[in-house]
Amino acid sequence: MIIDSHEHLGDCYVYDHSVSEEGLLGALNKNGVDGALVFPFPGAADAPAVHNDIAALAKKYPGRIYGVVSLNPHRSPDEFDREVKRCVDMGFKGIKIHPFGHACPLGARDAQKVFVAARTYGIPVIVHTGLGVPYTLPSVVMQPARQYPEVTFVIAHAGAYIYSAEALLVAQECPNVYLETSWCSAHRIREFVEKLGPERVMFGSDIPINIESELAKYRSMLPDETLKCCFAETARSVFKLPS
Ligand SMILES: [Zn+2]
Repeated sequence: MIIDSHEHLGDCYVYDHSVSEEGLLGALNKNGVDGALVFPFPGAADAPAVHNDIAALAKKYPGRIYGVVSLNPHRSPDEFDREVKRCVDMGFKGIKIHPFGHACPLGARDAQKVFVAARTYGIPVIVHTGLGVPYTLPSVVMQPARQYPEVTFVIAHAGAYIYSAEALLVAQECPNVYLETSWCSAHRIREFVEKLGPERVMFGSDIPINIESELAKYRSMLPDETLKCCFAETARSVFKLPS
């Protein structure tokens, strides 16, 4: 069983990416990935429209595609909360904040909307880290993780290798923090597993073309029992996915 805990659908004007339904499903099928958490890119021109596309995909592939909210926190409080609630009602499993792509540092007033929504609806927060420093240093997760101890935080890209030691430190200091490892090196992923345990570490790819290489990093150095946990069980438990 493999769950990709970080996938996108649609277009992104921040990173100039585009992922189609066929591209996403084709890559999942090709690599034997059973399920994926899918969210709009931070530079989606119309995030609610992409939420609708993800909801439609989840309906078409039940148990394979799970939605995650990704909405610019600078929207008005009413608009923001209404859209998060709409997505949660459609079965979405988490909420993402991209401090660089959403132009919203975690210490900004508007970022609080994301943490409060996560607490209100009982869903984890995914925080992008890596590209976009200093707003995307893993250490910025520590303050909200402590302020909202009942909320689960996932450090996306776990610092993207260059800041991975810092991502590890945050996870060691905050028990409500988990690491998603796309763009990290194999030896860093092994260090996360050794120091945090596999139940705090999850596989993610970020884009379909990465799936094969991200899986290979794990397979090249970890035993089957550990793979089982990092490939599916961690994500299943953090995002409360049905088994
Ligand atoms: Zn991403």
